[in-house]
Amino acid sequence: MILAADFGGTTIKLGLVREGRILARSRLDAYANRPMAERLEAVACEWELLLKTNGYTLQICAGIALSLPFLTDPKSPRVLGDFGKFPGATNIDFAAWSRVRLGLPVALENDLRVALLGEWTAGAARGKSEVVMLALGTGIGCAVLSSGRLLRGANNRAATLLGHSTIAHEHPAGRCGNLGCAEDLASTATLAKLARSRSDFAVSQLAGAEKIDHETIFTLAAQGDACSQALLQQSLKVWAVMLQNAVIAFDPEVVVLGGGVEPSESEPAGIHLKGASDRLFAALSLAKQGRGRLLLIGGGSYQGGEDVTVFEGEGAKRWVEEWQLSPVPVQSLGPCRDTHDEALKVAALAAQHSWKRVALVTSAYHMTRSKAVFEKAGVVVVPVPCNYLSMGMRGRHVTWLVVPKADNMLYFGAWMHEIIGWWAYRLRGWV
Ligand SMILES: [Zn+2]
Repeated sequence: MILAADFGGTTIKLGLVREGRILARSRLDAYANRPMAERLEAVACEWELLLKTNGYTLQICAGIALSLPFLTDPKSPRVLGDFGKFPGATNIDFAAWSRVRLGLPVALENDLRVALLGEWTAGAARGKSEVVMLALGTGIGCAVLSSGRLLRGANNRAATLLGHSTIAHEHPAGRCGNLGCAEDLASTATLAKLARSRSDFAVSQLAGAEKIDHETIFTLAAQGDACSQALLQQSLKVWAVMLQNAVIAFDPEVVVLGGGVEPSESEPAGIHLKGASDRLFAALSLAKQGRGRLLLIGGGSYQGGEDVTVFEGEGAKRWVEEWQLSPVPVQSLGPCRDTHDEALKVAALAAQHSWKRVALVTSAYHMTRSKAVFEKAGVVVVPVPCNYLSMGMRGRHVTWLVVPKADNMLYFGAWMHEIIGWWAYRLRGWV
């Protein structure tokens, strides 16, 4: 078993790993401004706790693996420069610390190289021997696998500093001293400065934004903010140039992209169209027929990533507006826990605006419960069922092949959900 830790800017991720499998994991706040020695001790304590709570002992551990956000020399092993994060890291004798504190040997490596080894062993670069990994985020990181080995160079710097290569020689020198360095032109670290230097910043929504990072830029650009759109285009161009330069320099079989940039929420168009999207189109049809003056969209939320919560209603609203599909104003109910929650929110709005009737659009199989819960909440509803899953709508496929169909399990699942949902709502007095 290996005790592993990945030191990041916000969190330190820890794990117990055996033969490539993570048996247990936990995380600590990074406190990257505090001394490395202190954070190492916190990590050691957390490993001991992890071992204990999972029924393991230090005796069965073969060593320690550290992934660090620094240039490293894995042979000595030591940190070559600490860039202000985890101060004191360069002075630490990691081998001595590990031997004295836990009685184990240690291996350490630059975090992006570790990420590349991970992708090579178990991810997107499995089976390849020529790989480039680029991480876009606070900075622009790079690591390269060449002939199946990490490319290190004479000073363990090879590829690592690619983000500081000059891509616009007429630009002034940036933080690292290089002219027009890629990181200075397109990374979270300099984004706020770049934004403020633009003439359209003052009239941009960015001026009032809590923090200026790529997430904000992507969001505001999608909403039509010109300053954000320009910055986004610049970042995309710089990243594309970096990618192209890396391909020219290292001739990889595959380029793996990683880093703190999340998959785009607006892909595709901010919502995933599934069976239930019939509801949205049925509601839009009603609006087009002039049967309502406002389109209200409910829906739940789901976890789109570690820290990303996507609200269905918000996504659908944005999509409908971007595509100009609705002749009437669109409003999201915000994140709703369930149909009951939606009913309460609509009831409050109905009371506030003195609405007489609300056309309730939902899947036919869900209508019985929805109508009941809305009426109990005091809303006068006109039911508009859609998304029929009845035999008539599904069509009849004549087949002699006696194989169970997965679709039928889905229909059965939906039916069970409604039956159980009905009784759950009855017991709570919601219908
Ligand atoms: Zn630089």
